[in-house]
Amino acid sequence: MDTRIGFGWDSHAFKAGIPLRIGGMTLEHPEGLAGHSDGDVLLHAITDALLGAIAAGDIGSFFPPGDPRWKDADSAIFLKLALEELQHAGYRIVNVDTTLVLDLRPRLDLSPGRCARAWPTFWAWK
Ligand SMILES: [Zn+2]
Repeated sequence: MDTRIGFGWDSHAFKAGIPLRIGGMTLEHPEGLAGHSDGDVLLHAITDALLGAIAAGDIGSFFPPGDPRWKDADSAIFLKLALEELQHAGYRIVNVDTTLVLDLRPRLDLSPGRCARAWPTFWAWK
């Protein structure tokens, strides 16, 4: 069995007046995460980890921040592509472990049930 491990890390500044998207969910908070896409820091880090595990590049090489196609894009698109790349390379996910660090404390519900609803493509991946 060939096992690969990927590491993803991401950081975005908070910005007033935009939706806060984390883990594919929109959370109630007066500030969101600034970014060219929806700024979903968690999905970006996981996407980067998956692409890195198969040495396919990073999220920036697939979705350059200056490309107008990705302006305000749903980051689930990025994760879906990384999952497809992983499958094409002949791998599957065994485990994803994440740590989320926030300067502010929005109320977060990242329970497995809520994540499963937010990430149906991700959780359905076999
Ligand atoms: Zn990011």
